[in-house]
Amino acid sequence: MAASHISIRGARTNNLRRLDVDIPRGRLVVFAGVSGSGKSSLVFDTVAAEAGHQLNETFPPFARNRLPKWTRPEVDHIDGLSPVVVIDQRRLGGNARSTVGTITDTWTYLRLLFSRLGEPHVGESNHFSFNDPAGMCPTCSGLGDVVVTAVDRIVDLGRSLRQGAIRLPGFGDGNYWYSQYADIGVFDADTPLRDWSDDERNALLHGGEAAARLGRRLGRRLPKDYEGVVERFERIYLKTSDNLSERKQETIRRFTRSQVCPDCGGDRLNKESRAVTVLGHTIGEMSRLEVCELAALVRRVGAPGVVPVVTALTARLDAMIAIGLGYLSLARATTTLSGGESQRIKIVKHLGSSLTEMLYVFDEPTAGLHPTDVESMTRLLRRLRDRGNTILVVEHDPAVMAVADEIVEIGPGAGADGGRLVFQGAFAGLRRAGTPTGRALSRPAPVKTAPRRAEAVITVKEATRNNLRRVTVDVPASVLTVLTGVAGSGKSSLAAELVEQHGAVVIDQRPVGANRRSTPLTYTGVAPAIRGLFARRNGVPAALFSANSAGACPACGGLGIVYTDLAFMDGQEVVCEACEGRRFTPEVLAHTVDGLSIADVDALSVDQARHRLPDKAVDRALRHLSQAGLGYLRLGQSLTTLSGGECQRLKIAKELRDAEGPATYVLDEPTTGLHMSDVDGLLRVLDALVDRGHTVVVIEHNLDVVRQADWLIDLGPGPGRHGGTVLYEGHVADYPPDAGTPTARALAAHR
Ligand code: ADP
Ligand code: ADP
Ligand code: ZN
Ligand code: ZN
Repeated sequence: MAASHISIRGARTNNLRRLDVDIPRGRLVVFAGVSGSGKSSLVFDTVAAEAGHQLNETFPPFARNRLPKWTRPEVDHIDGLSPVVVIDQRRLGGNARSTVGTITDTWTYLRLLFSRLGEPHVGESNHFSFNDPAGMCPTCSGLGDVVVTAVDRIVDLGRSLRQGAIRLPGFGDGNYWYSQYADIGVFDADTPLRDWSDDERNALLHGGEAAARLGRRLGRRLPKDYEGVVERFERIYLKTSDNLSERKQETIRRFTRSQVCPDCGGDRLNKESRAVTVLGHTIGEMSRLEVCELAALVRRVGAPGVVPVVTALTARLDAMIAIGLGYLSLARATTTLSGGESQRIKIVKHLGSSLTEMLYVFDEPTAGLHPTDVESMTRLLRRLRDRGNTILVVEHDPAVMAVADEIVEIGPGAGADGGRLVFQGAFAGLRRAGTPTGRALSRPAPVKTAPRRAEAVITVKEATRNNLRRVTVDVPASVLTVLTGVAGSGKSSLAAELVEQHGAVVIDQRPVGANRRSTPLTYTGVAPAIRGLFARRNGVPAALFSANSAGACPACGGLGIVYTDLAFMDGQEVVCEACEGRRFTPEVLAHTVDGLSIADVDALSVDQARHRLPDKAVDRALRHLSQAGLGYLRLGQSLTTLSGGECQRLKIAKELRDAEGPATYVLDEPTTGLHMSDVDGLLRVLDALVDRGHTVVVIEHNLDVVRQADWLIDLGPGPGRHGGTVLYEGHVADYPPDAGTPTARALAAHR
């Protein structure tokens, strides 16, 4: 008989404190708690990891090598698990061949439809696959766009050859390539290219006929193997099948641009397949329709032979509409989707599946969703549960907690102050519980009473990016502006215009620190201050505490880890045996401050370090991290372990410390991953930025943040081509509750 619960005993992953908990199966369970309390450590690193591990064990060894690797969690035991599907916000791959259509399998069904009903009648459905030679456009190999040389980036017409008119590497005065043009007695190296004759310019850039004509006129032969600069660039960089070095690839990126394929116009298919129609529409046209329009069109297909195909196709399209993605088109490249959109796209596949008794694990599925869209998301989660699956959701949004069968709160604090079970039960009970989540739920957030007034404005003019309808809007300077609107209404597009027209700085959630050795210690530059403190307290030179000094462990050179290269496998990093990862010689480790050795400092949280290492310079370097709500990070924690939201706050901290002169900042949903009680902290950081004279523009759905804005710009009313206009600009308090817009309704409903 199937177990009624997933029983976890003695979980110790990351900060979990020998946690025991029983999670009901076949239910929708929300995991709440402040940021850094251990929700992900429990749900992803323990439950999902063990489920994945157990599933892998059921495969023979040769197959296991091809499966995702799961790190075995630190836990005494877990039972009652099922096969697990993790649906996170990791963006969907960097593969240009992946589109909304291919990732949701809708493209497969559309292809089937065209192969059965297409006019003129065609053959197999692979004729409509742009990833199959039978279907792909020969010019762009099915990519939809082609890379072309950006001649305007290669040459600067205002300069002479000697002044560096050719920007390609190797073309500076005195370089080899330079002499192949400037020193052959054909071109005038001292006159700006703009003042040359057409033939001279064309001969230089493109060779060919122009070069021959020029040679005849000058009465001299050009070198036999003469090529124009652009010809040469294309031969060496573009028309080569060699593996290109990183440097060459960088050169290609600088001097080319991609443009829509001139052959297929972006449809990715060859001429024959592009011409085939169903209901008078080509497959390319259908792929560019919004999903809601496509669903309506496909329903009109009446042929009896294709009923199963139409049913399967419309089921998936309807699922996309239900989760608020009806504004996307199947042609949209998945690389252009936001994190929230990526996560919802992944759900579509599973809604079509008839598997039951599965374990689904979600990471903040409401990210990027307007309160209006959250409702459809919760319906979807319940549908998945009602098929007999267990749904575990890490989530901060009270609207999701309200529909959960059970809520598990981990806490009470972050890091070492968390990792315990502080509440388990129904939503009603949570509201009364004195836990951080319970308290935040019972405390309503007020509207800002005295919004700041702007002295000046930054105008975004006639923006038409994506779905924007010639939007001209004033963004007040030196205040906090929030951009609202349903998903797909055009918020990111408007923000991108602001960045382009005014050079604003984007503070996003992309990872910081390229390697595992970047830590808050290295990122904040606090290390020299700490070394100075140790030196002063112990009366020794500061250099002793540096990882590249005589004080460093000779075995690992102060890295604490040793890199082993294995012949047939990925290289591996192992902890140095000589120093046990402590990086320094025993003599250096004997010098202490407040009982801590230099190696112990790594284990301190930011807040602990400020407390235990009383020093002005240390405090100056770390204060901004605490202000940004990251006081719980350990100084030696690899930055690769940080979530997107944490990375974003780390960047805010850096701007707080470094920014000179007023700047304009754009933040996309900074509350992602933040507990309600941490939102206050975030608002304080944003206020700190504004108080320094910066202009801050935030895309946000969180109503607590919206209410604290100095200025509101609301876009909509709908997604895609149903949006793209400004519905309201002004103070939040002045937004008429009966304006009839999604945001006005949400503000009124959650007052
Ligand atoms: P939550 O999901 O509640 O925000 P996490 O489970 O991500 O919290 O983190 C709990 C604690 O464990 C935090 O102090 C975090 O910094 C730490 N942590 C998370 N991942 C790792 C890791 N891979 N290695 C070390 N510490 C980690
Ligand atoms: P929001 O930020 O409000 O969710 P976006 O500005 O991301 O909305 O999107 C507005 C519209 O533009 C949507 O219909 C979306 O599908 C479309 N869109 C966004 N980015 C791209 C892109 N890179 N290529 C094509 N369409 C896009
Ligand atoms: Zn093409
Ligand atoms: Zn060592």
